Amino acid sequence: MLKEEFIMTNKQFTNLPLTNEMLNNIKSLGYVEMTPIQSKSLPHILQNKDLIVQAKTGSGKTAAFGIGLLSKLNVKKFRIQSLVLCPTRELADQVARELRRLARFAHNIKILTLCGGVPYRPQVHSLSHQAHIIVGTPGRILKHLKEGSFVCDDIDTLVLDEADRMLDMGFNEDINSIISQIPKNRQTLLFSATYPESIKELSADILRNPITVSVESTHDESSIKQYFYKISSQNKTASVPALLSIYKPESVLIFCNTKIQCNELADDLEERNFDVLVLHSDLEQKERNETLVLFSNKSYPILIATDVAARGLDIKDVDMVINYDLANDPEVHIHRIGRTGRAGKSGLAISLYCSEDKDRFEDIKDYSKQSITVDEISSLDGNTNHILKSQWSTLFINGGKKSKVRAGDILGALTANVGLCKDEVGKIDILELCSYVAVKKEVVEKALKGLENGKIKGKYFKIFQK
Ligand code: ADP
Ligand code: MG
Repeated sequence: MLKEEFIMTNKQFTNLPLTNEMLNNIKSLGYVEMTPIQSKSLPHILQNKDLIVQAKTGSGKTAAFGIGLLSKLNVKKFRIQSLVLCPTRELADQVARELRRLARFAHNIKILTLCGGVPYRPQVHSLSHQAHIIVGTPGRILKHLKEGSFVCDDIDTLVLDEADRMLDMGFNEDINSIISQIPKNRQTLLFSATYPESIKELSADILRNPITVSVESTHDESSIKQYFYKISSQNKTASVPALLSIYKPESVLIFCNTKIQCNELADDLEERNFDVLVLHSDLEQKERNETLVLFSNKSYPILIATDVAARGLDIKDVDMVINYDLANDPEVHIHRIGRTGRAGKSGLAISLYCSEDKDRFEDIKDYSKQSITVDEISSLDGNTNHILKSQWSTLFINGGKKSKVRAGDILGALTANVGLCKDEVGKIDILELCSYVAVKKEVVEKALKGLENGKIKGKYFKIFQK
């Protein structure tokens, strides 16, 4: 057989060991041939192997695992046999919908969704009527497992859909607790749009001799994950603490379109005990420099900025960008989100979007080469009361380049003279007339006293805590 011919025939669903009923149904859904990720993964999935599948959004991953778990389902056995974990309620609903379409070949396959953000009791009631497949978010599924709302002894397939996003949302522990309670003897399928270190670690723990299947994606798609959340304008402000508690970034840059909006959001977050910095054109150059230092040395986890203020500034390598207001111009949007996901690390960009922003949203969507997912904030399942706090505090020293102070002098003073260990000293910034050093919060008093009473480079300097 010619290579080309082989690839051609390989795309046909009819070459898979599926029942005629299943094949006819797939055809009736208009699926003429397999998508690349399906033709690469389905043969292994149907052999009951563990798989790691990496492909961008819209590549047909749901049908890949859906066909897999449905074809091994014992419909007559009215027990939960598959568990599908998804990051949000919306995604869980989407997956359940696709599974129901794929399940039409047989009568009576019962698929139940269990997600947070909706009443718990009715779910317990539905569970009492049994189901074959459960799709849901980790937090809520774990709650049901803990309270014994369902028996999981018959689960033989576990699917982690959008695993990278679940980890971004802090579901790692919940996922591990769920896994510790379901049978070890099972098939585990992990789907992810990206393949960061954290996914490798998770896979090593929970999959057995997995086969890895991936379809090429461009660099951009793999390094910045973009999520859009549809929200009503009056809920916008409250959504920020929720997003921060769920994603728990160490550093986050929030863009607003106006100065007034920056200040309002800052006030609101401060009221809720978040430590925030604001950067806009009302600030003097000196204040701006200091703001940047305090953000980049991680003393403050949150910086709220306008585009004008952030333009040309060396703010990079933040864990997360939030577009509180959608950018007026798609190019500005791309520029904003490019502040995250640098140097091979994966970044996260979240954009809030109200119905008034529809045109701008469409522009951004058309402009970006990625397919875009829109979720609702209310579909997030997780603890929304976490306050981001920094481990670092900054000391100001009134001497810099002009006084020939170098980073090594400050580090030396803090370690050799004051007695801090290297790990307790963070980033050091030397400006023209002053310097800044980040130190761990628990030793800031000691560092302050020590520097005040000792010399740096043979001189006494004024030291302040910022
Ligand atoms: P992913 O999970 O990879 O982001 P989905 O599973 O949501 O992608 O699939 C994207 C779309 O493609 C869905 O609308 C789905 O119905 C459709 N689809 C899946 N497989 C096929 C196929 N073989 N042929 C045509 N359309 C497909
Ligand atoms: Mg998907």
